[in-house]
Amino acid sequence: MTPAAYVRLDLAAARHNLSQVRRYAPGAKIMAVIKANAYGHGINRIAQALDESDAFAVARIDEGVELRHAGVRQPITVLQGFICQDELQLLRQHQLDALVHSPWQIDILRQQAADGGEPLSVWLKMDTGMNRLGFKSADFNAAYQQLLACPLVKQPINLLTHFANADDLLDDQTRRQIERFHHAIADYPGQRSIANSAGIIGWPNVAGDWVRPGLMLYGCSPFAGKTGGDFGLKPVMSLHSRLIAVKDVAAGECVGYGGAWRCERPTRIGVISIGYGDGYHRHTQTGAPVLVNGLRAELIGRVSMDMLTVNLHDQSKAKPGDPVTLWGDGLPVEEIARHADTIPYTLLCGITQRVRILEQTL
Ligand SMILES: *Cc1c(COP(=O)(O)O)cnc(C)c1O
Repeated sequence: MTPAAYVRLDLAAARHNLSQVRRYAPGAKIMAVIKANAYGHGINRIAQALDESDAFAVARIDEGVELRHAGVRQPITVLQGFICQDELQLLRQHQLDALVHSPWQIDILRQQAADGGEPLSVWLKMDTGMNRLGFKSADFNAAYQQLLACPLVKQPINLLTHFANADDLLDDQTRRQIERFHHAIADYPGQRSIANSAGIIGWPNVAGDWVRPGLMLYGCSPFAGKTGGDFGLKPVMSLHSRLIAVKDVAAGECVGYGGAWRCERPTRIGVISIGYGDGYHRHTQTGAPVLVNGLRAELIGRVSMDMLTVNLHDQSKAKPGDPVTLWGDGLPVEEIARHADTIPYTLLCGITQRVRILEQTL
């Protein structure tokens, strides 16, 4: 018997996607982005599956510490860096590389430098137009010089920026960001890193020394209206459940909370054991595809916490226990994201604890 909601992870697909990154960015080193529990896939298992990547990136220190405890040896960059002395201590203790994006971080580095100890690797971040983290070009050189003079900072200093809108190939902003970055760092010796997934696929030859793929490693397209398959990627996560009831509903009756869907004619519906309590987005609209026995059915009515309903149309033989795929193999998560007015990132990250994880071997 299949469990109720479960996820199947195809770790061989993750390795395939890593090899595709190498194809898109030949010669560049890869910093695999496995923040947010590897986009919902499980940080340790993905780090293990992608052990051929040159380095890893996480958002927060805790994530990096977890990887070190699991025995990961590669460099690990903490993309948010640190905000106090204690956090800097933690980074140093676990040999995590720090992102430096703000002036007070340099103050903290200088204070801690007085105590001596091994220098740590840093990535100095330039804000080329995202207006989130990083030094503006006017302040970048001063920050660089301060780090150069700080004995706690390993030389050469690495240099990084992040795209705001690289998934829009018509937006000139990306080109401007690239130019600003290259102009500011032309004379500096450190390693360069610019591109996320959209940059790697959509803006060839901008890669720099290190690329930072996230979404594409999990097999998804960073571009709206496309799927990972269009770019030679394979989905890693498939979300599954099963039918738990089948019933015939009379014309004029409504289905689910709020009576959000009304039967125009006598309709056979299926009830599936999965809902927003598992991470299936509540705002997914009527009409979103769901695979029942490998055939397309349509979501109807509101998604509830533990269940959702589908129109079984002509699947007269469907019965409780039949297998259901919500996304993954044969049903791209990008397509479901579109029906939920969101992006694949949120769906992948949103899988909750009660969903059983079944790994597929490498
Ligand atoms: C999350 C993140 C990435 C990866 O982005 P994708 O769109 O998932 O490829 C790269 N760089 C930084 C700084 C990030 O925060």
